[in-house]
Amino acid sequence: MARYTGPVCRLCRVEGTKLYLKGDRCHTEKCALERRNYAPGQHGQRRSKRSDYGLQLREKQKVKRMYGLLERQFRGYFAKAERQRGITGENLLGLLERRLDNVVYRLGLCHSRTQARQMVLHGHFLVDGKRVNIPSYLVKKEQKVQLREKSRTNKEIQESLKSSERRGVPKWMSLDAANFVGTILDLPKREDISEEIQEQLVVELYSK
Ligand code: SF4
Repeated sequence: MARYTGPVCRLCRVEGTKLYLKGDRCHTEKCALERRNYAPGQHGQRRSKRSDYGLQLREKQKVKRMYGLLERQFRGYFAKAERQRGITGENLLGLLERRLDNVVYRLGLCHSRTQARQMVLHGHFLVDGKRVNIPSYLVKKEQKVQLREKSRTNKEIQESLKSSERRGVPKWMSLDAANFVGTILDLPKREDISEEIQEQLVVELYSK
């Protein structure tokens, strides 16, 4: 599956908010947004008023980039969210949160979604004892996500676990760090997602 391979800090600067794409660096003063909190490019420091469409577009881009998706994949999630019962925007975020790469990141086993995606693709994780190497796999309630025994000595994972303690694990999952196992206690709800997202703007954009 295609993915964005350009400079990621640039994406945060375009959106004007931290998308946490670089792991630990995002929490330090080395973060590009801490040093240059304006859009990249010659006119980046100009202040311009955004139209309603502009606001909706930026919000959609922000969420899409946060979860490391391309337009087509993101549209697919939106279509699925629309078909579900309930509030489309909340359904959309719920689906994105249930992606296996996001779950691994939220559990703190990887320091960014990009790293999580890579680790899942390389088959380091088991879901209910079976190896799953599909980052878009949607976890279900009561499933267990576990790091393979062979991968437990992986230095990056050990470091991620240490540094992710400050992030904490969302309450819809639990982590047994000693055994590298995460359990999905419930499906994610809107209030479980701490990032500032105005999902209604995404719905308005796609409903035009
Ligand atoms: Fe975004 Fe992280 Fe880069 Fe900061 S360090 S600009 S939060 S990707």
